[in-house]
Amino acid sequence: MDATASLRDQARDLLARVFGYDTFRGFQEDVIIDVASGHDAFVLMPTGGGKSICYQLPALLRGACGVVVSPLIALMHDQVDALAQLGVRAAALNSSMSLEQSRATEAALLRGELDLLYVAPERLLTPRFLDLLERAVQKNRVALYAIDEAHCVSQWGHDFRPEYRELTVLHERWPRVPRIALTATADERTRAEIVERLELGEAHRYVASFDRPNIRYRIVEKIEPRKQLLDFLRNEHRDDAGIVYCLSRKKVEDTAAWLNAEGRPALPYHAGLDTEVRTRHQRRFLREEGLVMVATVAFGMGIDKPDVRFVAHLDLPKNIEAYYQETGRAGRDGAAADAWLCYGLQDVVQQRRMIEQSDASDEHKRVETRRLNHLLALCETTRCRRQVLLAYFGEQLSAPCGNCDNCIEPAITWDATEAARKALSNVYRIRQASPSGFGAGHLIDVLLGKANERIHSLGHDRLTTFGIGKELDARGWGALHRQLIVSGMLEPEGEYGVLRLTEAGRAWLKSGDALHVRASTLRAKTSRTTNAPKAATAADVPAAHQPLFDALRSWRREIAQTQQVPPYVVFHDSVLKAIAALRPSTLTDLAAISGVGTAKLDRYGKDVLALVASNS
Ligand code: ADP
Ligand code: ZN
Repeated sequence: MDATASLRDQARDLLARVFGYDTFRGFQEDVIIDVASGHDAFVLMPTGGGKSICYQLPALLRGACGVVVSPLIALMHDQVDALAQLGVRAAALNSSMSLEQSRATEAALLRGELDLLYVAPERLLTPRFLDLLERAVQKNRVALYAIDEAHCVSQWGHDFRPEYRELTVLHERWPRVPRIALTATADERTRAEIVERLELGEAHRYVASFDRPNIRYRIVEKIEPRKQLLDFLRNEHRDDAGIVYCLSRKKVEDTAAWLNAEGRPALPYHAGLDTEVRTRHQRRFLREEGLVMVATVAFGMGIDKPDVRFVAHLDLPKNIEAYYQETGRAGRDGAAADAWLCYGLQDVVQQRRMIEQSDASDEHKRVETRRLNHLLALCETTRCRRQVLLAYFGEQLSAPCGNCDNCIEPAITWDATEAARKALSNVYRIRQASPSGFGAGHLIDVLLGKANERIHSLGHDRLTTFGIGKELDARGWGALHRQLIVSGMLEPEGEYGVLRLTEAGRAWLKSGDALHVRASTLRAKTSRTTNAPKAATAADVPAAHQPLFDALRSWRREIAQTQQVPPYVVFHDSVLKAIAALRPSTLTDLAAISGVGTAKLDRYGKDVLALVASNS
């Protein structure tokens, strides 16, 4: 047998024995063999794709320690806990540990008693640690360097970590130790920057599909956002853990307080809270079941919780990359999950204003505006959302996905030619009468023929467009103005979102072309909640399996509490569901379930079999 074939056998054996899985996913096996044979690799895989095994297994195969650079301390601890459950010897070195703990870990590395060592980048770069590495490499104790969340090297995202740029020291000093860099970033420019900054030109590149088929995308029109959110939570995610993103800190606090008042346990998270509070909330979110985290974008990177069942946005993210990353935190375990976004005219005006008022250069503002426009196009599209989303990242999905709102219930469009003509003329007339212009609220009042004091004193009730728009209500006009902004015919300006007719708007008015836009989702809303298949939740366990499933869950909760680890570290929901369905009566039956490796079998096998037996 040649060396590679035997490596493959060993890899499969370890996968089954340690992790309890029968098959590799996608190119996992190729990466593992590649790195185990000493090559560098650059792995691009979406969140939940299974990146960790790509460096964990080669370290085990090489019989030395994998040194993993990871940006977040909380994440490191979870990984170390999860590995300990699998019987893998893992440790972390970071600023939260005592001197004694650190010394003990360093000694263990040198003695060859560690399989994986997680280290924060700033720690790795200290002379002391580099010196330790030197000694460890001399003794053949270092299997590989893994650079996790490699996009932290890029200044484009909000996860930029300057220390990542200095990680080139690793291959400069120890060129024979293979490196593997991993990221879930889907954005081509960031990928190119990673290769350049980390000098990965020679690395073999593995790019997975960035589709997350288990996530159902849904974008609804913002009408009464709080009520819409509450309906969504009550109808579809009664007991599930999830994240609600808001733009401002204040809105995060208000929304969390309001959810609690409505009887839904929720925690706030934003950069303005004390570190201690943030850590506590993050920890509770990971360790308790069914909590809602209401957060700004400060929350998220490295949140390794696999059973986040939904990500809801009460405000528009700033571009498609952000939307993809934030929604990607749902459903890492592969089970059904929802991405729900609620957006309206004000979101568009607000995001534009934020770009306009930022300190960035004009060039940068143009780039940001273009990126925002792609997201707006995704919001307004009547096509399969997943196709549009993936196309943005250069990936073609051959057929509509069947798992987004537009696929489940085809969007209705209407001929808005006449209405758009009225709206644009109205903007034009009002600008003529009052050159400083007006925002959508006032424009719509004029179209509807509202005879208020302000309109009268401005003389806007004498304009030809006064009262010509009775066919739509204020909400309908709001939606159309938003769509005219998205299609580039109107442009909001300044602090008050004063609307201006663009060149494209003028050209369209002259052209006589028709305009079809997405109809308000309002009408479709009621049928959607009743017709659409629901995302799977814990509650979807068949009734016959429910008692055992519940018993397993409370057993898991106790174990997790005693060991001070999150419940999913003991067993994922999917494992508990399989146990409840298959009712194994022997250790061999139990071992056959995906996610049950030897260490967990030794540790929990008897307990689980006893629970199954007593629940008959
Ligand atoms: P990522 O780091 O890419 O977000 P993880 O490494 O956390 O993803 O893996 C996501 C989930 O998929 C984990 O629960 C992991 O145990 C599981 N997983 C990874 N590889 C496999 C596999 N080959 N078979 C079954 N489950 C897997
Ligand atoms: Zn679709």
